Amino acid sequence: MRVVLINPPPHEGKRFIREGRCMQSVASWAALWPPLTLAQLAVLARRDGHDVLLLDGNTQRQAGLKPLLDAVGAFRPDVAVLSTGFPSLEGDHAAALAIRDAYPGIPVVGLGQFFTLTGTEGFRETPEFDLALMGEPEKPFMNLLAWLQSGRQGDPPPGVMCRDADGHPRDAVPAEPLDRLDELPFPAVDLLQRDAYRLPHNGQPFMLVNVARGCSAPCIFCIAPAYHGRRLRRHSLEYVLAELEHFDREFGLKHFLFWEEVFAHDRTFAEALCEAMISRGTPWAWAATTRADRVDRALLTLMKRAGCFLLGLGIESGNQVILDNARKGETLDDLRRAVALCRETGIRSMGHFIFGLPGETRETAEETLRFALSLGLDYLQCYAAVPYPGTPLGKMAQEKGWIRATRWSQYDFGGPSIMDIGTITPEEVDAFRRRLFRRFYLSPGFLARQARELLANPRQLIQAAGFLRWI
Ligand code: SF4
Repeated sequence: MRVVLINPPPHEGKRFIREGRCMQSVASWAALWPPLTLAQLAVLARRDGHDVLLLDGNTQRQAGLKPLLDAVGAFRPDVAVLSTGFPSLEGDHAAALAIRDAYPGIPVVGLGQFFTLTGTEGFRETPEFDLALMGEPEKPFMNLLAWLQSGRQGDPPPGVMCRDADGHPRDAVPAEPLDRLDELPFPAVDLLQRDAYRLPHNGQPFMLVNVARGCSAPCIFCIAPAYHGRRLRRHSLEYVLAELEHFDREFGLKHFLFWEEVFAHDRTFAEALCEAMISRGTPWAWAATTRADRVDRALLTLMKRAGCFLLGLGIESGNQVILDNARKGETLDDLRRAVALCRETGIRSMGHFIFGLPGETRETAEETLRFALSLGLDYLQCYAAVPYPGTPLGKMAQEKGWIRATRWSQYDFGGPSIMDIGTITPEEVDAFRRRLFRRFYLSPGFLARQARELLANPRQLIQAAGFLRWI
């Protein structure tokens, strides 16, 4: 079969990342990410003898849907598979609808967090999609191709949601998550325009490398467990090293973002990975995200020696009661200590904050603002709490009548707050986010550091200009 895999193009001038639990517009200093999931599906389809075209609309030069439709028309696929997300949903609809209108008869299939979390409800509201893949997409995708190739014999296979003759959704039988991740071939990075994905701080091309999936922590706001499950599954050390070597040797890639929920969830593995990179002469620079309570001086020192340049930390709040309400399972001291140790060991830190979690008031938000500014972070991101379906927060918000959204695309942790929890208004939540962004990124210390980096690396000028416009 001929399979086209699509990351839909920008909608109303906005480009979107749709990668696992990360769904956001590329509006801040966040870099454009390679669509790793689609590259992973591409290699699986190729392995089974299908012809594959991967179109990342984020990299197209011309605005609008015409380049996408032209490319799909020239390829003449048997099936079109589109990545979707919540914030990008209106653009995803538009792309799906345009393909259906232009090329009737080609099944249009959606995948990603949106269909996984909203199930039949979301599928009912998106008639542009003929089929949807539920959960982690690799198994459902392979099931889908085999089913389509058989002429749709029998019921839809596990992980594939379809419609009955009247267009009503038929719920999918869940597909078991992949147990042995090492069975996956390396993603088809050759199909990506690798030059388009560059790190914001030094302009170097980078690639995502999936190390593990799943998280057992009970954080009430997080969508990772609903997508990847609570059980940790990871690649072997040999696999990860072979993948890094492959990307380096074949494509000259030397910068990576380790893509997993919590780096050092398995400490022994994290140490072994670092040791292995050090023993190779630390050939790669890499970033990761983790929990503050997973790192200590010894581990961070090792990570730094192994090439870690940036560590993302889910800090969320500067108030212990709010952290406890969110079932974060960490203390303010854990958070302070982790950021301080990053600084001491020379790893840059990126703190992620959420305003508007249950119990938030103007006072607790003010504490978070002060806490964030006092930590000594190198970068930060702050979001509004989003009551995604399938999360404990989503259930709580539904029961308490907190949700103000009227469209799924408003479920955007980078967008305006859509929850009125009664103790702080959505407008106040947004105002706190803006204040924290401005206070942090327009502080003399941050601007002086940026100026020094611009002098060292003028390529960053375009990035910096875009960033200041965004602020
Ligand atoms: S630790 Fe991180 S990935 Fe795990 S549930 Fe909490 S926020 Fe999500």
